[in-house]
Amino acid sequence: IKRNPFENEFHQAVKEILDSLVPVMAKHPKYMKNGILERIVEPERMVSFRVPWVDDQGKVQVNRGFRVQFNSAIGPYKGGLRFHPSVNASIIKFLGFEQTLKNSLTGQPIGGGKGGSDFDPKGKSDGEVMRFTQSFMTELYKYIGPDSDVPAGDIGVGAREIGFMFGQYKKLHGGHPSGVLTGKGLLYGGSLVRTEATGYGAVYFVNEMLKSKGLSFEGSTVVVSGSGNVAIYAIQKAAQLGATVVACSDSNGYIYDKDGIKLETVQRLKEVERSRISEYVKEHPGAIYIEGCENIWSIACDIALPCATQNEIDEAAAHTLVLNGVKAVGEGANMPSSLEAIDVFLKNDVLFGPAKAANAGGVAVSALEMAQNSMRYSWTFHEVDDKLHVIMKNIYRNSVEAAEEYGHPGNLVVGANIAGFIKVADSMLAHGII
Ligand code: NDP
Repeated sequence: IKRNPFENEFHQAVKEILDSLVPVMAKHPKYMKNGILERIVEPERMVSFRVPWVDDQGKVQVNRGFRVQFNSAIGPYKGGLRFHPSVNASIIKFLGFEQTLKNSLTGQPIGGGKGGSDFDPKGKSDGEVMRFTQSFMTELYKYIGPDSDVPAGDIGVGAREIGFMFGQYKKLHGGHPSGVLTGKGLLYGGSLVRTEATGYGAVYFVNEMLKSKGLSFEGSTVVVSGSGNVAIYAIQKAAQLGATVVACSDSNGYIYDKDGIKLETVQRLKEVERSRISEYVKEHPGAIYIEGCENIWSIACDIALPCATQNEIDEAAAHTLVLNGVKAVGEGANMPSSLEAIDVFLKNDVLFGPAKAANAGGVAVSALEMAQNSMRYSWTFHEVDDKLHVIMKNIYRNSVEAAEEYGHPGNLVVGANIAGFIKVADSMLAHGII
């Protein structure tokens, strides 16, 4: 805390992980002796830079850009870019640290990184977004590359932003270096299923948890927070598996539609028109809109999928979900549950899928995009979806087995942290003290 003052989110992520590694340290003193813990919480490198751009009124705006290259023990740095006014060093470090273990869990050869800016794309014209992203990439360009650091999207960074950033990287670098970013458009090196991967992957993961108790999505009631990339495809896959998704949200409020959210409307509003979720009720008068997004967790459901942002489920919300009979929680977003909320779920035998396991499908398919770019080849939708399915099942199985081996059966927070950690730690040991 003294070394990283005011970095609350980073402290929270480190605490969750280090607490769960206690049984590993007890069993394998080699990790303690070689300073693995001290090294793994310190990023290999972090850059912060000025991003000046000119808005539509001709006024100069200045934002701050970040890239953390957290750990490259098992592969090139890999992790998304977030554009949101809340972005700061603490947020980027927590995300980069989590990403390191998440990427390890996928079984793919990718290290951990993360980046972004406090730029808010909401309400900006396409021209403003383009000028900002070009300025951002003009600096970021110096630090990334297909074999060293491969960014992707995250909150506020979708196909439009990736397209502009790829264009600028290509202009600065020359040629067509497809492998430098993932989440690209299908016309210029993107992978099928990347758009759907995080949401689909989270539902595949939760399905494994449900199956272990003889439960399923079929006939269940689901609440999903957010209405962005992860939320939309979690809603789609949950509905395909027979669930009724009754609510979703944005940062202003949430909608409740007891007959099931009509996803085509949400997709048009959010992906095409970039408007607010409140517009939904104009087209579906049977649904209701409630201002403020926090109370979405007061809706009774069997399965909760938080897919918006960090710390959106606090202890009180977790208690409400439990009182209303929630059976499973799968984290589509990064760190959406506070440490206290996780405790409530675990103590009440709620099946709990932590983010670094449950939402690893996005980065896993990003790694498949890198593989396709290297081969200059594209797999079909079904080929990539099948691979994603297998990866999510493996992450589930490895997390369950690690939890059992280290004395916390059924605790996937501990299991995922340990399974992700061991591969990174053993690679760091193999490389010596660097
Ligand atoms: P998007 O920008 O596409 O969507 C984010 C959604 O969450 C929007 O509905 C947004 O509402 C809402 N939201 C954002 N910030 C807040 C906030 N502070 N309070 C309430 N609601 C908020 O992002 P993604 O769907 O890509 O990402 C969502 C989460 O999933 C993040 O935690 C991200 O790190 C994580 N994730 C994403 C992956 C991916 O592949 N995209 C991979 C793994 C994890 P509004 O429109 O009003 O801002």
